[in-house]
Amino acid sequence: MSMDSLQHLYVDELKDLYNAENQLLKALPKMAKKASAPQLRQAFTDHLEQTRGHVDRLDQIFKKMGEKPTGKTCKAMKGLVEEGKEVIEEDGDEFVLDAALIGAAQRVEHYEIAGYGVVRTFASLLGENDAMDLLQRTLNEEGETDKKLTRLAETVINVEASEAEEETPKRGKKTSGSRR
Ligand code: FE
Ligand code: FE
Repeated sequence: MSMDSLQHLYVDELKDLYNAENQLLKALPKMAKKASAPQLRQAFTDHLEQTRGHVDRLDQIFKKMGEKPTGKTCKAMKGLVEEGKEVIEEDGDEFVLDAALIGAAQRVEHYEIAGYGVVRTFASLLGENDAMDLLQRTLNEEGETDKKLTRLAETVINVEASEAEEETPKRGKKTSGSRR
């Protein structure tokens, strides 16, 4: 990539996010399937729908610039998805696994929040006001998702997970791919 202009950097960062979002489109259904708590499964499913919208907004931005969104792999998202996959392949107490899924998902959201904050600011500096507005909307949705996951963790999942040790014999173990 040429680092000679903010415009180039802006396009490069947008391509990185475009690839990251597309990786998430594949990962989120698997996370939803692994989730035991219905509210968590719903949160993942809802965010999958939002993520389609995030890809769509990026498509709009690229179209307007006359650029192609492809050609970059987001290595950071690859690593984060890989960590999520580790959770998906684990067996164990369903609430502990849900807590682990939330941890993996919040890492993803924080990464996206950082990425969209960066491009939103670039768009503003470059006078790309329509793009700035679209990127801000996505940024807000990533933030809301992060807060929703925190609420779920605080009110349901982690509370149950902290009781996992004593309750596990009564409740049984969850194996990969199974649903309750
Ligand atoms: Fe997103
Ligand atoms: Fe997200």
